[in-house]
Amino acid sequence: MNTMNTMSTLNFDGFGELFPEITELNKPYWDGLAQGEVRLQKCGACGKYQYPAETFCYECGAQKMAWVKVAAEGTVYSFIVVHQLYHKLLKPFMPYTVAIVQMDEGPRMLAAMLGLKSPIAIGDRVKPCIRVVDNERAFLTYVPANE
Ligand SMILES: [Zn+2]
Repeated sequence: MNTMNTMSTLNFDGFGELFPEITELNKPYWDGLAQGEVRLQKCGACGKYQYPAETFCYECGAQKMAWVKVAAEGTVYSFIVVHQLYHKLLKPFMPYTVAIVQMDEGPRMLAAMLGLKSPIAIGDRVKPCIRVVDNERAFLTYVPANE
């Protein structure tokens, strides 16, 4: 049972064109989101989690990285509210928040927070919200932990 919030009331048609290039290295991350879970690399030597993906551990250099499912909850480390329209697909979400989330697992994640009912603050608890684009693609956003 997928316990993550996958709100589907917002429309993400066309968002596929905003996706980064899927490589052999980052594919497990994107496949995870498409399957409703957040995955990070975890080092088999020192146990640190990391993002973005690399062939070696940022902490100890070991080449023992494995992909694991994580809760991906965290706190707002920093954020901005975007009022500039950078792409026509984002117009329905204006203005929207982009946050740096300090994940409980360790890495910091840059992610949009869409459709917020009230302003967020640094230190707020947040939880992942996977947004589905189509059968093969989804992306990670965050919502307040109490939503
Ligand atoms: Zn390591």
